[in-house]
Amino acid sequence: MPRSVPHSVASPRKARRRLFADARIGLATAAAYVVAHLSLILLLPAHAKTISYLFLIAAPLLASAASFACALRSRAALNWIGLGAGLLLWACGMASGFYMDVFAPNGSDTSGLSILLYVLYGVPLAFVLASPKGDVWSARLIDAGLALALGGLFFTATFTFATMTAAKGEGLFDLSLMLDAQNLFLLVFSLTRWRASDTPSQKDYFRVAAMFAAAYVLMATYINHVEGESDYGAPVDALIDLPFLFLLGLALRRLYGPLPSRMALAGARLAMIVRAVSPIILPLALFAVSCLLIFFKPWFAVTGFLAALIGYSLRTVLAQFRVSADNAKLERLTRIDPLTELANRRHFDDVLAREARRAVRADAPLSLLMIDIDHFKSLNDAYGHVEGDRYLRQVARALSACASRGGDLVARYGGEEFAIVLPDVAAEDALCVARNALSAVVGLALPSPAPRGVVTVSIGAATLAPDADHAALLAAADAALYRAKASGRNQVVLDGASALTPDQAMRSYLSK
Ligand code: GH3
Ligand code: MG
Ligand code: MG
Repeated sequence: MPRSVPHSVASPRKARRRLFADARIGLATAAAYVVAHLSLILLLPAHAKTISYLFLIAAPLLASAASFACALRSRAALNWIGLGAGLLLWACGMASGFYMDVFAPNGSDTSGLSILLYVLYGVPLAFVLASPKGDVWSARLIDAGLALALGGLFFTATFTFATMTAAKGEGLFDLSLMLDAQNLFLLVFSLTRWRASDTPSQKDYFRVAAMFAAAYVLMATYINHVEGESDYGAPVDALIDLPFLFLLGLALRRLYGPLPSRMALAGARLAMIVRAVSPIILPLALFAVSCLLIFFKPWFAVTGFLAALIGYSLRTVLAQFRVSADNAKLERLTRIDPLTELANRRHFDDVLAREARRAVRADAPLSLLMIDIDHFKSLNDAYGHVEGDRYLRQVARALSACASRGGDLVARYGGEEFAIVLPDVAAEDALCVARNALSAVVGLALPSPAPRGVVTVSIGAATLAPDADHAALLAAADAALYRAKASGRNQVVLDGASALTPDQAMRSYLSK
């Protein structure tokens, strides 16, 4: 099946080259910073710990500042703000670790506050990943609440299992594994959104987020599982700088390099699937963490389940509401002629067929007027199509004013032709409406190159015969219109009767 691609597509080779260019710049930025970090540690071993902390705080801070700056330049501003906020929280986590480790008595580098901040770092990122752009603000507010609840539960879970592990000396879910789970969550979803984005700015953001998340997972896995419990101040700390510097390089490239313009975007179908699935990501993540907690912190788990349920329900209600509103709008659009705002041909056909069936059932009269503007082509040729359109709108308004009883339908049949359906109106009264329409259009006094000097219409009128259907009624009105044209225009012809000029219709329809 052919994929629909909204923009021009970069070739795979070009895309790969750009990816490598991104990676090279990220790595070059990282290398310069790491060299400075390592040199200072080695040159000033007595202050190695403080130096290391300062570098480890500065790296995410720089990346955060660059992300905020990207928000000013990119159309995916909220995403970049989320990333900047996440990095800021991470830097605060490291700063609180620095304070506890170096200044607080009996402190350690993994205080509760630091862990909380490291966990919270994922909240704005998760929000950006799970809340698709284009949702109404209320839906995004619910997502923000869910992301926050997820952060809270993650924090609880982290400490629950961290203490358990400490007590038992082993355990599957130790603190770093919980953080790994969070990092993997961020990586998997940023990769998915990267793949599924359907605008260049979103795609570019998620590419950066995915590259950063991948670098972060690698770093965290090595530091947490290979290096273990070593103190800050060792050369290996420079590894922790790397993902942030990598991100800094990518962000700087976006700030000072060319903006993303041509890239292969996701097919509309994939983008639609991801947009449809996104709202369930946060509730599912909440549900999963709540399941982990159920036996250890039942009340937290129940709160998590409830938050997931309420958040998901609220979002569903909102989505339902939006779908209904969109459907109503679409339904309206499919039935209205955009130029004149009258009913369009489709709506006219439906109403005429329905009214014809009703008239036969109820043995009630049904009349139809077919109206055509005279010499409209010469008017268009003389004044141009824009002016022609303006005339069409004015004639439409005048006709609407002539048939305003409940049940009457004035429609644009096509081009410069209009139709009026008159349920429960017999032939004589239909003639009155036609006469009113005729004089209403003349009364507009719209200048025209036509022989009469003003815009006029010709009208064919017909009334449903006892054994006829709507198609027959339409054909009869059309035949009458043809005769009105043939007899000199600016007149009404009733099907089967002789032509009637405006003065010949006696009874006033509106006075009924
Ligand atoms: P007659 O009196 O026999 O009806 O002559 P006419 O010139 O009105 O009829 P004809 O069918 O020859 O031309 C209709 C013209 O209406 C031609 C077309 O350019 C114009 N027209 C159709 N739709 C639109 C529209 O949406 N906007 C404008 N400006 N012109 C339109
Ligand atoms: Mg015509
Ligand atoms: Mg015409």
